[in-house]
Amino acid sequence: MISQNPVFIPGPTNIPEVIRKACDMPTVDHRSPFFASVLHPAREGVAKVMRATDAEIYIIPGTGTGGWEAAIANTLNPGDGILAARNGLFSHKWIDMCQRFGLEVTQVDVQWGDGVPADKFEEILRADKAGKIKAVLATHNETATGVVSDIAAVRRAMDAAGHGALLMVDGVSSIGCMPFEFDGWGVDVAVTGSQKGFMLPAGLGITGFSQKAIAASKTATLPRTYFSIDDMRKGYAANAYPYTPAVGLMNGLKLATEMMLAEGLDNVFARHKRLAEGVRAAVFAWDMKPCALRPELYSDTVTAICTPEGFNASTIVSHASEHYDMAFGTGLGDVAGKVFRIGHLGMLTDAMVLSGLATVEMVMSDLDLNVTPGSGVAAAQGVFRRGAASMKAAAQ
Ligand SMILES: *Cc1c(COP(=O)(O)O)cnc(C)c1O
Repeated sequence: MISQNPVFIPGPTNIPEVIRKACDMPTVDHRSPFFASVLHPAREGVAKVMRATDAEIYIIPGTGTGGWEAAIANTLNPGDGILAARNGLFSHKWIDMCQRFGLEVTQVDVQWGDGVPADKFEEILRADKAGKIKAVLATHNETATGVVSDIAAVRRAMDAAGHGALLMVDGVSSIGCMPFEFDGWGVDVAVTGSQKGFMLPAGLGITGFSQKAIAASKTATLPRTYFSIDDMRKGYAANAYPYTPAVGLMNGLKLATEMMLAEGLDNVFARHKRLAEGVRAAVFAWDMKPCALRPELYSDTVTAICTPEGFNASTIVSHASEHYDMAFGTGLGDVAGKVFRIGHLGMLTDAMVLSGLATVEMVMSDLDLNVTPGSGVAAAQGVFRRGAASMKAAAQ
């Protein structure tokens, strides 16, 4: 059965009905003035969500992974040095991509559950006197572990070391959900996808390039064709693409950014924070712990939850799917079987999150974990009720 239960995977996320409808269009000539009326507002909306004023926004038919590839292929040369931390599956995969591109990665391994180590980055950048490192890669929100990293601190480390590398940030599971300051953090390339904070189906890789990154692209020699931002820029100048764009998704993206900006970015971020705090309250009520090691690392979009030693966390996900028709995230990579994940990003309300927590409690009771049904829900209700009261107070 295909139910309309919300999904609690950390992407793809739940799609608002109006956005689904906006994506569902008859065939449109993608070289017509109508397409221009979709393309440019969508790009401008994305820039606002990323808080980028001077960046160029490129939207590629693809996914976040395609965005990673666009970031690398457009700005770097074979053999260039990369500095990146590996603290979860997504940072791992971006590093793997760099290696496949023949880039030389200085990989800092940190415990899964920890964040990007800005201090260590500063040390390595200071030692790179020859300027071999051309890009610093940072995964803003590591979706595998539910860890948010301090990108401003990474920028400060780069500046303190006086290093000129490009700062490339994977914001796939943070942009549009948590504060993201393209300008403020001096980001050079930001990457996201359509199916997380933007509440769309998968199918778009969404990128922002700073003027410094654009300048690097003029001399960079890694080969690129489909991901060429030069070709894309020429297409955009003619209100078109170098190939056939996903017009329906672009129309959905335009609406999604309008909705997010109408809600107010600060309100969108506050909603995500409140939902995350509710989920975490439930986790502690179950006497469990987030995989994220310290409170400042807690993600507002996804919580990876450690289950008791000897218990296979993935059975929670399979049991929930089989018996309650509800989707949660499994543990990935090094933490497979040790954590399960609750995604709390995109179109979600307090009530939807409560339904997810109640379902987790049924699943855990079925699987004989020592959890009192209702305990997590009650804890989350406590957070949400105070949330509602304080919102009321704020409105007065
Ligand atoms: C989902 C995700 C990706 C991968 O994006 P795709 O759209 O699946 O290619 C990359 N990075 C992070 C942090 C993610 O959450």
